[in-house]
Amino acid sequence: MIKYCTQCLYPETKPDLHIDAEGVCSACRSYEKRTKINWEDRALDLERILEKYRNRDGSNYDCIVPVSGGKDSTYQVLKVLEFGLNPLCVTGTTCSLSEIGRRNIENLKNLGVDYIEVTTNPIVRRKMNRLCLRTIGDISWPEHVKIFTIPVQVAVKYNVKLIIWGENPQHEYGGPAASQQSNVLDRNWLEEFGGLLGFRVTDFIDQEGIEKRHLIPFTYPSDKELQAVGVTGLFLGYYVPWDGYTNALYAQAYGFETYPNVVEGSLADYENLDNHHMGIHDYFKYLKFGFGRASDIASNHIRRGRLRRADALNLIKRHDGKFPWTYLGKPVEDILSEISVPFDEFIKICDQFTNKRLFECDHDNVLIKDKNLNLTKTNDDNL
Ligand SMILES: [Zn+2]
Repeated sequence: MIKYCTQCLYPETKPDLHIDAEGVCSACRSYEKRTKINWEDRALDLERILEKYRNRDGSNYDCIVPVSGGKDSTYQVLKVLEFGLNPLCVTGTTCSLSEIGRRNIENLKNLGVDYIEVTTNPIVRRKMNRLCLRTIGDISWPEHVKIFTIPVQVAVKYNVKLIIWGENPQHEYGGPAASQQSNVLDRNWLEEFGGLLGFRVTDFIDQEGIEKRHLIPFTYPSDKELQAVGVTGLFLGYYVPWDGYTNALYAQAYGFETYPNVVEGSLADYENLDNHHMGIHDYFKYLKFGFGRASDIASNHIRRGRLRRADALNLIKRHDGKFPWTYLGKPVEDILSEISVPFDEFIKICDQFTNKRLFECDHDNVLIKDKNLNLTKTNDDNL
């Protein structure tokens, strides 16, 4: 039987999650600790760090802000502007950009910032999406790498020391800018936080005609380059009480547009609105680990007292892990045809990456699916 956290809806199968002797998961424990933080002290720390990196003579930017146009990056930019900083905002164009995603990028620029968008070769990008879907069951691997590489490359090229990231993957860590020992970003940092699933950029070389020269935007700057500029970074989520829902409310007040419906496979209308691949990405998380985007959002709301666990359970049974027939209204066949993966092959890839311990199978160990290709979890009773 798969164990679930007794407070939120996370299963023990979630990577890097630990459920303790009292049945409470590490994400809930981490949130408990956050409620005891003195945010006034943290705000003062942040001001001290920002003052240190502020450009005094107006000859360069104060910081780089990696942005997607989503609720969090809109909030990041607003906060940076409130501090009176002059940021250079940087986007790596997403794999399959939606119209609402583009409108939110335009909205972000109009907050009053300089903005650079780096678009990687779409032919190579689609090959990478296909290869990663087939080999590691993650269509979004190139997306998640370029989020970390492109802003750091721009920092090196523009000679800007400070990068202001958003959410903090480890809540007790302020990022290199706050560290006494080493305040320079390096490759270890990417490997620790990037979630690269053991796949390396160099693994693409010689596959489907991909050469080293095609992978420049996906390659982290060398330690020498980083040290020459002194590139460092901080997580805003360490210094302010970060909450996606609050960020969405804040961003909306400044023109950020939400989706007219609950996003497919989700419980919200305010996040993951820019990339049509996200439905497939989140569906594979469900197939591998038995929880999807709806569980993430529901658990987040439970921890913050906005949703009762029993109600959240009803909602995830309704929305979590449904076959991704559309994402932001775009049919899965169209999304797959852009990366030249036939629908039949997609179904085979799904089955190949499905953890059969988590879903009901027939006597021949074949996954049982309903007419909409949805699976049934084996041990919902344990939730
Ligand atoms: Zn929990």
